[in-house]
Order: sequence, then C-alpha cells, then structure tokens
Amino acid sequence: MEIKTSKFIKGIIGTDKILEDEKPQIVFVGRSNVGKSSVINSLTKRNNLVKSGPRPGKTQQINFFLINEKIYFVDLPGYGFVKMPLKRKEKIRKMILWYLFYSEVKFKKVVLIIDALVGPSEFDKEMLGLLNKNECPIILVANKIDKLKKNKLISQLKVFREETGHNEIIPYSAKTKKGRDELLAKIFKG
Ligand code: GDP
Repeated sequence: MEIKTSKFIKGIIGTDKILEDEKPQIVFVGRSNVGKSSVINSLTKRNNLVKSGPRPGKTQQINFFLINEKIYFVDLPGYGFVKMPLKRKEKIRKMILWYLFYSEVKFKKVVLIIDALVGPSEFDKEMLGLLNKNECPIILVANKIDKLKKNKLISQLKVFREETGHNEIIPYSAKTKKGRDELLAKIFKG
C-alpha cells in the first residue's frame, strides 16, 4: 500500500464532528523530540506535512491529516518536552488520554513511537498499559535506528521487548526510511 495523497484537515482541542467520522484513525503518539513529525512526513513523503521540532509557545492541538481519502493520520501533541511548564505538560497528558479513551472515536490504531537509543519513557509504559487494557491495537515503532550499530540495536530491541511486553517492535529510521514498508503494511492492514 502506498500513500498517494495526504492533506491537513484540521486541528482540534476538544470534541469535534471529525471524531465521529467513519474513517479509521491511525494515531501517532510519542514524547517530544522522538521524531514523530519526521516519521509521519517520511510515511507520506512530504517534508513539511507536519511541522517538525518543539514549539513550546504554540497551542497544542490534535491534528488530522486525510490519507488517500480514506483514513486519517492523527498527530497527538508530543508529551514530556523537558522545558515545558508542568501545567502545559498536564494539559497535554489530559488531552491525549481524553482522545484515546474518552472521545467518540471508534476505530483507531495507535502507533507508539519510542526512541531507539533511549527506549520507552514512564509515560510510554503507562500508555501501553492503558491501551492494552482497552484492547486497542498498537504498533510499536523504535525510531532513529540509524544512530545505532547493528549489535547495539539488536540488544536494545531485546530490552524494549522485555520492558514493554511487546514482541513486535518495528525498527525505524525517519532519516533513512528504513522500516517504512513494514510500518505502512501494518497501518493499512485490517
Ligand atoms: P517530534 O518532536 O517528535 O515531532 O520530533 P521531530 O520529528 O521534530 O524530530 C526531532 C529531532 O530528531 C529532529 O532534529 C529530527 O531531525 C531528528 N530525527 C527524527 N527522526 C530521526 C531519525 O530517524 N534519525 C535521526 N538521526 N534523527 C531523527
């Protein structure tokens, strides 16, 4: 499956009609700077579909992109940005949990992106627990593998599998596009 068209539809901060849309929603989550924008851009082959980098001053929204006119990519705000004030961190955390567990969205699949060097954060683990509890399909992605030597990557992935309880973690690089076909296949499956 290839992505032919992708366009920004809207950003929301609370309940909205788009949440009731019948189209499947593929949700991207990850801590700030993990490369979430870069991963989405690498999938869509659009360098600037999602603006990259931390934007502490900007209102944090949930952004919707329509892909091939049939599914949405949903970009949740990045969490845990170190320099972010605690209040805003809390607000983002609440927004993420609301969208995932309390909003009207029916069909969703969550792409959780972790850093191949750093591994899952505490919030990643909390989220995984909640997603599992809610029987939400998860695709786990370890981004930035271009920064690791092969042996180190193999041992890191083993540790992450143990830490997350997930057997399948897609090794990915938004930079080299490694893992792109595998991730696209998982996204469009079922
Ligand atoms: P976001 O905050 O999660 O949206 O992260 P960004 O997409 O803005 O990326 C954060 C930083 O990591 C940027 O400097 C990117 O160039 C870099 N980055 C993202 N993905 C990769 C990757 O696969 N490999 C490498 N080496 N750097 C990456």
